[in-house]
Amino acid sequence: MSTRPFDPAKPIDLHLHSNESDGTESPAQVVQAAADAGLGTIALTDHDTMAGWDEAGAAARRLGLTLIPGIEFSTQIELASVHILGYLLDPHDRHLVAELDRIRNDRVTRAERMVEAIGRDFPLKWDDVLAEAQEGATIGRPHIADALARKGLVADRNEAFASILHWQGGYFQPHRAPHPTHAIELIHEAGGVAVLAHGGSRGRRAMSDGNFPKLVAAGLDGVEIGHRENDELARSLLRGYARKHELIVTGSSDYHGAGKPNQLGENTTDPAELERIIARATGTKPVVPHRER
Ligand code: AMP
Ligand code: ZN
Ligand code: FE
Ligand code: FE
Repeated sequence: MSTRPFDPAKPIDLHLHSNESDGTESPAQVVQAAADAGLGTIALTDHDTMAGWDEAGAAARRLGLTLIPGIEFSTQIELASVHILGYLLDPHDRHLVAELDRIRNDRVTRAERMVEAIGRDFPLKWDDVLAEAQEGATIGRPHIADALARKGLVADRNEAFASILHWQGGYFQPHRAPHPTHAIELIHEAGGVAVLAHGGSRGRRAMSDGNFPKLVAAGLDGVEIGHRENDELARSLLRGYARKHELIVTGSSDYHGAGKPNQLGENTTDPAELERIIARATGTKPVVPHRER
C-alpha cells in the first residue's frame, strides 16, 4: 500500500530493546534480527532513552523495515513500577529530555546503592556492573544480573531476578520515577502517543485500586494487550477497558536479545491499530525504507 508508511502484510512488533538500555544487541543488530525474523515494522522502545533511534533508523532504511521511534518510560504508582510506551515523540522536547535525564541519573545512584549492599555479601563491585553496560546506557537490574552471572554467582539474568535482585531478595532498592499520568502528559507534550505497557505484570498496579481511570483521564491513548506477561484475566480486563474508552490496542514481544526469552514477533499489532498511532502522532515521523520514498 503506497500511502501507508509501513507494509501491512508483514508482522508489526512495537516493543523492542537494544543495548542503549538492557537489551543485549546494538540498535542496528536489533533491526537486523527483526529483518531476519521477517518483521516489516518495529518500534525501538529502550527504557528512558532515545539514544538508539539514529542507528536503528539508518539500519531500517538499509534493510527495508519501517521503524517507529519509541521509548519505554519508567514510572511508578507508590513504589510499584508501571511502564508507559511512547511512540513518535519529539526527541528534542525539553521537558521530556529533562525528565528522562532525571530518571536515568536516579537509576544510576539506585543501582550503586544496590551494588554496595550486595557487595557486602558477595564479591561484586560497581565496576563489574559498568562493564556490562554500554556507555551511556540506561542502567538497570539486568546489568547487575549480568555482572553476577559473569562472576558465577548466578546462572543467568533470570536466576538473579529470582534471588539476589528480587524485590524481596534483601538488596532491592526502588528508583524514583514519575507517576504514569505525568509521563502521559510529557509524551503528549512531545507530540507522542502513550500506551500502557504489559498492564498485567507484577501486581497489575496500573489496573487496580482505581488507577486505570486516572490514566485514561490523563489521556492514555492505548494498551498493550498481546504481551507474555499479560495473562488471560489481564487481557480480558484490558480488552474491556479498550472497548469502553476506544483505546488503541497493541501486541508486542518486548524483545531484549539474549537478555530475555521473548522472541521477535511472538505478539504483533494489527495494521489498523498502528495506523491510529501514526494518525495521532505529531512529534516525529516513522522512518521508512529507502525504496519506498
Ligand atoms: P529495573 O527497572 O532496573 O528494576 O529492572 C527491571 C527490568 O529488568 C525490566 O524492565 C525488565 O526489562 C528486566 N527484567 C525483569 N525481570 C527479568 C528477568 N527475569 N530476566 C531478565 N530481565 C528481567
Ligand atoms: Zn527491559
Ligand atoms: Fe517494561
Ligand atoms: Fe520493555
